[in-house]
Amino acid sequence: MMPTQIILLKEGTDSSQGVPQLVSNINACQVIAEAVRTTLGPRGMDKLMVDNRGKATISNDGATILKLLDVVHPAAKTLVDIAKSQDAEVGDGTTSVTLLAAEFLKQVKPYVEEGLHPQTIIRSSTATQLAVKKINEIAVSVKKGDKDEQKSLLVKCASTALNSKLIAVQKEFFSMMVVDAVMMLDDLLPLKMIGMKKVQGGALEDSQLVAGVAFKKTFSYAGFEMQPKKYENPKIALLNVELELKAEKENAEVRVKSVEDYQAIVDAEWNILYDKLEKIYKSGAKVVLSKLPIGDVATQFFADRDLFCAGRVQEEDLKRTMMACGGSIQTSVGSLTDDVLGQCALFEEVQVGGERYNFFKGCPKAKTCTIILRGGAEQFMEETERSLHDAIMIVRRAIKNDSVVAGGGAIEMELSKYLRDYSRTIPGKQQLLIGAYAKALEIIPRQLCDNAGFDATNILNKLRAKHAQAGMWYGVDVNNEDIADNYIACVWEPSIVRINALTAASEAACLILSVDETIKNPRSTVDGPPGGQGRGRGRPHAH
Ligand code: ADP
Ligand code: MG
Repeated sequence: MMPTQIILLKEGTDSSQGVPQLVSNINACQVIAEAVRTTLGPRGMDKLMVDNRGKATISNDGATILKLLDVVHPAAKTLVDIAKSQDAEVGDGTTSVTLLAAEFLKQVKPYVEEGLHPQTIIRSSTATQLAVKKINEIAVSVKKGDKDEQKSLLVKCASTALNSKLIAVQKEFFSMMVVDAVMMLDDLLPLKMIGMKKVQGGALEDSQLVAGVAFKKTFSYAGFEMQPKKYENPKIALLNVELELKAEKENAEVRVKSVEDYQAIVDAEWNILYDKLEKIYKSGAKVVLSKLPIGDVATQFFADRDLFCAGRVQEEDLKRTMMACGGSIQTSVGSLTDDVLGQCALFEEVQVGGERYNFFKGCPKAKTCTIILRGGAEQFMEETERSLHDAIMIVRRAIKNDSVVAGGGAIEMELSKYLRDYSRTIPGKQQLLIGAYAKALEIIPRQLCDNAGFDATNILNKLRAKHAQAGMWYGVDVNNEDIADNYIACVWEPSIVRINALTAASEAACLILSVDETIKNPRSTVDGPPGGQGRGRGRPHAH
């Protein structure tokens, strides 16, 4: 009797499994790594990406590039996710983590093809724990007590992070700025207390750091010129109140019989407004900020009484002002008591390039600062902002965990040597697998060489020799096509970045290895052109 076939899934469901499936997933991950490979390191290239709306982005940041690629391959997506998580967790090392994960997979691919059980391979990821332990052992920590020493360490970390970016030429300027900015924050180092504003025009070096809140002056009416632009110790009213005559604007229909009636309505309108303005004036506030518009009557009223006002302030700016200056945002002017008013040491309005900026300095509540970026093209400034974000994250990390390792492939070479030595002490398949892991780590220095146009094999041979002779911190010297002690050369990175990159990469690799079947619902494959095109074997999203 013929066995009846059991139909479990809807017709058209695509399911692939077993070794070919694993190999195809590994291949997809290689494609992802290919996409970001050339961006690694100080000699890395940038990518120009144009989305379907024609918006162009230039970036060197692995996470940004992968986010924009819109990858649909399910396994390859894992790599995008770890890059994103690395970005969120430590903010740097996003290219490294992707490359490492892809390289781990590449190194074990022959074993998968030979039919070695994935679980055996996954077991070899104990090598990660060994590597992390080793990093912790050899990382150099700095004393927190010494402020000057701590600061110079932080500047070095920031400039290593900026090395690979478009703004590398101005890295000294920006690494000082980033370190100053982070050091202004309180102990928790909240990222959102660093505001970042972009003003087109001017040179990069015209960028400045403001100790406090700063934002662009919003649209303003006549009468504004008469308002004072500078106060010491002003009280600040933070409002979500409209201070504008409403009559014409609302388009309401009001039927009146006589001129007097009409006048009464107009008067009522004015009275309501004047009543609000009077209350604000009485509260003693010198600076009035509102999320909603402040009209010409109100502007003139405040100008006459020596007050400054700005309407249509962005919510984010208003909130940051509130957090920095204290007080709270009011939706009515009924109770503007002292405890809901904010305060700062100095308020002033300043010209920055073609824009007017409001500065609030000496904020008592929360320590905050604002970086005002200057520069030419918009894409360039956006990339600058992202690069500074990387550097800020690194500095924050370095303050929290003050231990560093040498970069430029030095730490990877040292770990590789350590694991290779270790693998020789164990028998069986694990020896080969841990050896493969050790080999995979070499991708970082290799790629740094490739991107700089160096002979990678030659440099790697030199590095292996040096590390065998206890030259622990030797890495790629990108300036002289040679190797150098990168600890002395001050190419430093917080050890947490490397630890996180290693663990995340190995977790992702294990995850991909542990998937041996993909089942695709037919619905998800009907629309869109047939697959097999584009990066990551993806199809563009159907929505
Ligand atoms: P990621 O997204 O992984 O941070 P980057 O493009 O920032 O990628 O490159 C980081 C790599 O470049 C790290 O391995 C780092 O050690 C290395 N690197 C940075 N500056 C230098 C330098 N001056 N010399 C050699 N290597 C460097
Ligand atoms: Mg980086």
